Amino acid sequence: MSKILIIEDEEAIADLEKDYLELSGFDVTICNSGDVGLKMALTNEFDLVVLDLMLPGMDGFEICRQIREEKNIPILMVSAKKDDIDKIRGLGLGADDYMTKPFSPSELVARVKAHLARYQRLVSSGKKQNDIVEIRGIRIDKTARRVTIDGEERAFTGKEFDLLTFLAENPNRVYTKEELFREIWEMDSIGDIATVTVHIKKIREKIEYDSAKPQYIETIWGVGYRFRI
Ligand code: CA
Repeated sequence: MSKILIIEDEEAIADLEKDYLELSGFDVTICNSGDVGLKMALTNEFDLVVLDLMLPGMDGFEICRQIREEKNIPILMVSAKKDDIDKIRGLGLGADDYMTKPFSPSELVARVKAHLARYQRLVSSGKKQNDIVEIRGIRIDKTARRVTIDGEERAFTGKEFDLLTFLAENPNRVYTKEELFREIWEMDSIGDIATVTVHIKKIREKIEYDSAKPQYIETIWGVGYRFRI
């Protein structure tokens, strides 16, 4: 159920708005003063705020500005004066909508619904899926840079992680140590390619049941390494 905060000092108006919004299935909280309303908006998880402009304690301009600094939730501003609407627009406070009193409660409900739907779309499209590589019990979360082996998390250094991920993403291909060194250390093979051997050993200790008989990263003698799928 979406939670709505109404910051409005005229109780009759606040109650009317609350009744209509509750009839539409919203969970509504009223606050009659500006400063307390701002505090509530910032410390609670509301999905939308209906904000009156002229309020005791702190005016709607300042409340809108401060909510916007911390939250992306829709803010619907209401005012008794048409001039105020121009001022709200002009100030660029980040309000999503403006209504002039008196307005019909059903119009308020329609606008609340529209803004919540838009906001929900925005939030869900912003949630990116993590980039995951999964092979036989090994799960590499490239976004979070975490590795689990049969569900158990193991710690990898940055280069160990990069090397394991590269091999797992390119399975069944043999890479020479020189190729792996260039790929992971991004230098033109002027480094110590023994580093690759050391890192492969460390990775095996973390992912293989038996490092002497590797099931994942195979050594192809005289050539290099291959990740088995
Ligand atoms: Ca007022």
